[in-house]
Amino acid sequence: QEDVFKKIVSHCKEYGFVFPSSEIYDGLGAVYDYGQNGVELKNNIKQYWWQYMVLLHENIVGIDSAIFMHPTIWKASGHVDAFNDPLIDNKDSKKRYRADVLIEDQIAKYEEKVEKEVEKARKRFKENFDEEQYRATSPKVAELLAKRDALHERYQTVMNAEGGIDLEGMKQIIIDEEIVCPISGTRNWTDVRQFNLMFKTEMGAAAEGASTIYLRPETAQGIFVNYLNVQKTGRMKLPFGIAQIGKAFRNEIVARQFVFRMREFEQMEMQFFVKPGTELDWFKEWKERRMAWHQALGFGAENYRFHDHDKLAHYANAATDVEFHMPFGFKEVEGIHSRTNFDLSQHAKYSGKKIEYFDPETNERFTPYVIETSIGVDRMFLSVMCHSYEEEKLDNGETRTVLHLPAALAPVKLAVFPLTKKDGLPEKAREIINDLKFHFNCQYEEKDQIGKRYRRQDAIGTPYCVTVDHQTLEDNTVTLRHRDSMEQERVNIADLRSIIEDKVNI
Ligand code: ATP
Repeated sequence: QEDVFKKIVSHCKEYGFVFPSSEIYDGLGAVYDYGQNGVELKNNIKQYWWQYMVLLHENIVGIDSAIFMHPTIWKASGHVDAFNDPLIDNKDSKKRYRADVLIEDQIAKYEEKVEKEVEKARKRFKENFDEEQYRATSPKVAELLAKRDALHERYQTVMNAEGGIDLEGMKQIIIDEEIVCPISGTRNWTDVRQFNLMFKTEMGAAAEGASTIYLRPETAQGIFVNYLNVQKTGRMKLPFGIAQIGKAFRNEIVARQFVFRMREFEQMEMQFFVKPGTELDWFKEWKERRMAWHQALGFGAENYRFHDHDKLAHYANAATDVEFHMPFGFKEVEGIHSRTNFDLSQHAKYSGKKIEYFDPETNERFTPYVIETSIGVDRMFLSVMCHSYEEEKLDNGETRTVLHLPAALAPVKLAVFPLTKKDGLPEKAREIINDLKFHFNCQYEEKDQIGKRYRRQDAIGTPYCVTVDHQTLEDNTVTLRHRDSMEQERVNIADLRSIIEDKVNI
């Protein structure tokens, strides 16, 4: 599985999807650039989200707020004081880890051990094996689960301690559980320290008393501080939502797994403002809607799951993640949070402005509650890549690398090839592109044999290829080749647009 992932990473580079940032200077940690195909795929993902969220919901509107914001916003939101990762170093390997992640992995290990016990018993008892009964009665399983639960409880206690995370308690857990460094294999740990994830910069010349500002670590606050503007100018009635797509920055310590965890990334967030008391119904509703959106891509329901949080941030009263089955396990792609009225109330407090909603039906004033859906564009991109990549064995013994991208997301929808570079075939091919390029992204290719050209388009996920040959000049028909089935059919040039649009429109 890890191997497949490595192949996907190099495929992304080889075919112009993702390059390491500043590569000629040997790169910059956990920062990536999107290439000519990557940017098209990423734009299509954003459009797929925007169309669903903003165009299909009449009570959701979009904004585009600035990355630079008043520094007090991050005081109010809690990011200055609480957006900290607890870190621990191993003195032998000199590797740095997130202490919370080490402990969460340890909790997962108890579960893995349970599964191993179940598998052992299954082998031992063969067809007489009753899994449910075994799980319920095995003393070994009971012991492992008890250990897991005890650790989980201790972990909750240190994470939710009065005045922030209990760092000493965290270190004690790591010692008691005998957690070793995955690199050095030793237990020679430093103390746990906290580290703020926000990037700082200065606005204005230093001599004039420049103020420290932060690069936003999430796009959500830009929505909260514009709540009144949008609500008033749009005459929005509850429930309503504000959506935004934009860059966010986090100085992640453990940056790994390619574009999964980056220091500069992009988010697609929507804050849905509701009447207090109705938030948990809306939370449930948005869980369903967002899952349906993911599954509409056709990657198979078994590749998604919810991970409901029982450890809630101080401002939330419900939270879940949508996880996708990546080559390195089920991983969070989207978070859905019921954030209560925390953010709006905090901004009211810190700005001194009244941030409320007046309900004309009941004549009441109140601070709306908020349901947030927050998805990372880059993680979505990665999930699409991972699911679409295939090294397919063909009947003739050859292998082709193909990206089975949903047609709506594919960077190029149609590639047009003249069979040869002469006899007016290139001109005819260009004529087809000139007609269709206003409707979807087309690419012209005349180099190499047709077979090779097909392979190059398969590798970037182009759903359709068209070949222009001598017969085309006589009867205006072309060969249309389908990426997934590799089937070919003869169609009229005049029908191309509707055939393709039917599949590529979102
Ligand atoms: P994680 O636990 O993986 O760090 P998070 O819970 O901090 O993520 P949120 O703050 O809920 O994430 O952000 C919402 C979404 O933004 C995530 O579901 C993810 O898709 C995306 N995201 C967050 N951090 C990063 C990052 N460093 N790189 C890429 N995408 C990210």
